[in-house]
Amino acid sequence: IDKHLRRNKLGLTVRDYEGVMSTLCAGCGHDSVTAAFVQAFHEMNLEPHRAAKVSGIGCSSKTTAYFLGQSSGINSVHGRMPSVATGAAAVNPELYYIGVSGDGDSLSIGIGQFAHAIRRNLNMLYCIENNGVYGLTKGQFSASADIGTRAKYGEVNEQPPIDPVLLALSLGATFVARGFSGDKKQLVPLMKAALAHKGFALIDIVSPCVTFNDHAGSTKSYAHTYEYYHPVIHADFVPEEAEITAEYQDGGAITVPMHHGGNVTLRKLDRDYDPRDRDQAFQLLRTREGSEVLTGLLYIDETRPD
Ligand code: SF4
Repeated sequence: IDKHLRRNKLGLTVRDYEGVMSTLCAGCGHDSVTAAFVQAFHEMNLEPHRAAKVSGIGCSSKTTAYFLGQSSGINSVHGRMPSVATGAAAVNPELYYIGVSGDGDSLSIGIGQFAHAIRRNLNMLYCIENNGVYGLTKGQFSASADIGTRAKYGEVNEQPPIDPVLLALSLGATFVARGFSGDKKQLVPLMKAALAHKGFALIDIVSPCVTFNDHAGSTKSYAHTYEYYHPVIHADFVPEEAEITAEYQDGGAITVPMHHGGNVTLRKLDRDYDPRDRDQAFQLLRTREGSEVLTGLLYIDETRPD
């Protein structure tokens, strides 16, 4: 049977969880995030009307139109999505609040709102579709671009990036994860775990901009082309309660040649990595992030009230 026609326990097909047709560039990572949302909701047997979608401005913020067409949503003001989500959640705490944002929306104009949503442990799933550029305004560097990243028209970024994962950990977020738009096997379980979490759940999603990312001049990791990322990002740790489907491999290092020369080393989290240990998460990110991209559930605190 066509997987799109397979019915879940509610009798709904994947099609019932889709939205309007995407107008993003063909191949944009954000459309893969959309597909992951659709799959996660379908597999969790959630009724579409129980979700509320909130977003700001940017290519990323258009994503909410492309899934759960039968649920409510608002495309709000640049960087102000967390305020809208806070107000809505205060009025109706029964819904699943899903915020989709970008690195520009969250880490520049909206960074104050992002910080206070975390501080309040607002009960929502907050996804950042992170590509290091402002795609909607023709590819300027965002605050998550690496030093040394080269833009499409040749400029080189000289400012250090803000890492939303480290920032969220510092601010006391109770669920902190990173995924990759090209790896649904990992991203869907992360989304399901985040939706089940009571409190603020961040998933920073590396989501390539196929129009404006150009990794040829970059010196290290972050968020760029599929060619760059596919060999280096793998499934890591997510808790068993989330009905894990992501595959593990035992710890160990692999060295991957990069298309612009040099190598990047990947070391997966060990099976016994404990995401309830915040200090360990900090330590891991500080020691590994210089040459690697870590994905998976890095931290969870199920004790703090939302
Ligand atoms: Fe996606 Fe980049 Fe196109 Fe925006 S400009 S839709 S981020 S590929």
